[in-house]
Amino acid sequence: MSIGENIRAVGKESLVELDRQYMWHPMMPYSASQQPMVVAHGEGPYITTEDGNRYLDAMSGLWCVNLGYSQKSLAEAASEQMLEMPYYPLTHTHKPGIRLAEKLNQWLQGSYRIVYSNSGSEANEVSFKIARQYYEQMGEPNRWKIIARYRGYHGNTMGALAATGQFQRKYKYEPLAPGFLHVPPPDCYRCPFGHQAGLCQHECANYYEQVINWEIPETVAAIIIEPVISGGGVFVPPPEYLQRVREICNRYGVLMIVDEVICGFGRSGQPFGHQNYGITPDIVTMAKGITSGYLPLSATAIRDELFDVFRHDSEYAHLRHVNTFGGHPVACAVAIKTLEIMEEEHLVDRAAQLGQQLKTKLTPLANHLHVGDLRHFGLLAGIELVADKETKAPASPEFTAAVIAECKKRGVLIGKNGDTVRNFNNILTLCPPFIITDDELDHIVTVVKESIAKTTEQGV
Ligand code: PLP
Repeated sequence: MSIGENIRAVGKESLVELDRQYMWHPMMPYSASQQPMVVAHGEGPYITTEDGNRYLDAMSGLWCVNLGYSQKSLAEAASEQMLEMPYYPLTHTHKPGIRLAEKLNQWLQGSYRIVYSNSGSEANEVSFKIARQYYEQMGEPNRWKIIARYRGYHGNTMGALAATGQFQRKYKYEPLAPGFLHVPPPDCYRCPFGHQAGLCQHECANYYEQVINWEIPETVAAIIIEPVISGGGVFVPPPEYLQRVREICNRYGVLMIVDEVICGFGRSGQPFGHQNYGITPDIVTMAKGITSGYLPLSATAIRDELFDVFRHDSEYAHLRHVNTFGGHPVACAVAIKTLEIMEEEHLVDRAAQLGQQLKTKLTPLANHLHVGDLRHFGLLAGIELVADKETKAPASPEFTAAVIAECKKRGVLIGKNGDTVRNFNNILTLCPPFIITDDELDHIVTVVKESIAKTTEQGV
């Protein structure tokens, strides 16, 4: 019996037993980890478990399976590349890596150099190293600080986690990499500066300027920013915000790193999230949707003019950074195919259209007793649940968990996030694949509405 057949021959019960014996699942409290959902099959936007339950996956796995689960041509692209040339490191070069870098430049609508890695966290680590090395080689070695935002997420490695602004993910692992600072997020529902949405001077953007000055501009290398804080609770900034931040960066010579790990590759209704705001980043990091989650791959794109500083041959002037699998030719071939499918099927436009529908369909929920705020960015939505609309007291973690469980009972998987300091976890998240039909989108919305209503009725 082959290893594959052997695994398939094991019944569901023993799989769970084996899982309990050998696996350690990330981000799961112990008792939940003892009841794993054993996922066996994927088709379109659906997954099916070993015990035959089928779910509409409104989270695209972990915000990544934008093309759904049954793109055979991605498997074929992987297989062809594996037969042609299964591996070579990018200390030299190969066709899939080169062609993908060219395509990424088209999607970015600019001139960028591409460094490949395997995950979003690594792509961000590379961006920090490049920002610091850039300034060191520009004769400003004191510029090493990096400003990120509270509620933002940038990954799990010691630098990317230091950049992350979510305390609960960090505090057991400190001390993390030094040199990371945080500013308040553009949370227009619970404004950190006490303003009402639309009635402010964008203090959250201007705060960057204060921090840069307090820290002394000559010590700040870069900021890192998601176009919209996604995993942290879908915080959509005011339209002027990113331009204001870009102006501040320009004024003080601070590089702008834009983390497009979730917002990139069509999720926002544009090829990249920042393109909604008319800004040009200095560095762009990307992962997840680059292969629609079919293989691990990430990229760090550096504006060509910055690369000029690396164009000479002194011993330490080049990027002293390599990883074995970054830019793996098979992953690059799958990424090229992913982007080709997106182009041929006009899926960026489709994501924009679906996003608009999602927004329209969710809008009546704003009247619900326990819905405090609805937020949207392309085909991405956040629903902030409250116990009391007047005081904005957040819904209890039990209420949010009950809504999610009810959605699951009705066959739809949704996500959650929230204030990790106060453990609110009261924001429902929706991030469906771009290939869902109008009816499937309607179904997701109906299930979410019914689940909130049912949970309310039950008085959780
Ligand atoms: N950046 C953002 C905005 C993310 O949402 C994530 C992961 O969810 C990361 C970085 C880290 O990516 P990875 O999990 O691939 O390391």
